[in-house]
Amino acid sequence: MAVHAHPDDESSKGAASMAKYRAEGVDVMVVTCTGGERGDVLNAAAQADVEERGLLAVRRDEMAAAAAVLDVQHAWLGFEDSGFPEGDPLPPLPDGCFAALPVEETIEGLVGLIRAFRPQVVTTYDENGGYPHPDHIRTHETTMAAIEAAADPDRFPDLGEPWQVLKVYYNQQFTKARVEALHLAMIDADLDSPYHDWLKHWDERPDDAYRVTTRIPAADWFEVRDRALIAHRTQIDPEGMWFAVPLDFQRRVWPTEDFQLARSLVETALPEDDLFAGIREDAS
Ligand SMILES: [Zn+2]
Repeated sequence: MAVHAHPDDESSKGAASMAKYRAEGVDVMVVTCTGGERGDVLNAAAQADVEERGLLAVRRDEMAAAAAVLDVQHAWLGFEDSGFPEGDPLPPLPDGCFAALPVEETIEGLVGLIRAFRPQVVTTYDENGGYPHPDHIRTHETTMAAIEAAADPDRFPDLGEPWQVLKVYYNQQFTKARVEALHLAMIDADLDSPYHDWLKHWDERPDDAYRVTTRIPAADWFEVRDRALIAHRTQIDPEGMWFAVPLDFQRRVWPTEDFQLARSLVETALPEDDLFAGIREDAS
């Protein structure tokens, strides 16, 4: 089970790994906490559709299309997008949005999904959200609290039998080491790197490379990941930076999607190359 904040996050963080596990016959469910209704339209080609039907409706369809590409099950938690607050001082969060609700009020839906789907492995963001969007941080908090509550027979007894998740991972696909490696490969080949600005301002963000415990060889599924991204038409410009680095470069320079093992109830040896390490052995 992969828990994400907004529709499109599942396609930019760990999508190739999900496609790989689907190809192996693993059941995969993506859970999206909010509808993404406070996002910007980042692709002019989608503007007319948004004006006609509204961003929430359009993004629901986009999410369904991406889930079909990745061949995963999908569920919404149904919370309202908090928006990315900008300005100095930052504006207050909108009333009733996901990040403005107390965590006790955001876990129930996810507890029910965990008990029904019964995932051995859950992925989410680290405590910093991966990047400082309030919905990403709240996604982390909600996921961690829901995993704990789902295993506790005294919590939400009406939501089904308790279920203990065995491993929890944080997405760590956007490390400085990876971005830098792709950047240098582009420059080496006399191509225009899309990462100049990111790297110039990287000092303002933590470099999470030291957190990576687990690298999933997912290069054969980068193409599927890109098709899932393109399904999020309001968010992804097919001519934009997501696709500026040719796939063969990505496969050669950084052929893995990287994760941080945050919790494990099974024995495993680090570094890993499989989210189910220690679990497959048990099962067999
Ligand atoms: Zn997001």
